[in-house]
Amino acid sequence: MDNMVSTCPICHQPTSPEWYFCPNCGKELKAKLIKIPLITQIGIYALSIFLPPLGLWPGIKYLGQKSQEAKMVGIVAITLTIVSSVVTIWLTFHYLQSYLAIYNGLLTNPSGLSSF
Ligand SMILES: [Zn+2]
Repeated sequence: MDNMVSTCPICHQPTSPEWYFCPNCGKELKAKLIKIPLITQIGIYALSIFLPPLGLWPGIKYLGQKSQEAKMVGIVAITLTIVSSVVTIWLTFHYLQSYLAIYNGLLTNPSGLSSF
């Protein structure tokens, strides 16, 4: 990963991926600057977690962006959507199984009820 240590394409000074401009020559380092507000990111992540299929659309939209930050938001949103979907399905099956176990238990062993 040479993402951590990058150099300016003009003067070849070492630069940080955090910087938007080269401090030496002033070259714009991040060509397409799409700053995503934190509140928007939180909104997308919340959507991904609580309403899994809906989080997929902004996720795909951001994944298609040129900006590295937007791509990351997209990846995180899609990952959260998948994780949330899996957890939701698992919990549904888990609760359904335990509910059925109780229900079957009552049917096969209706203790107390038959004595009346
Ligand atoms: Zn430079």
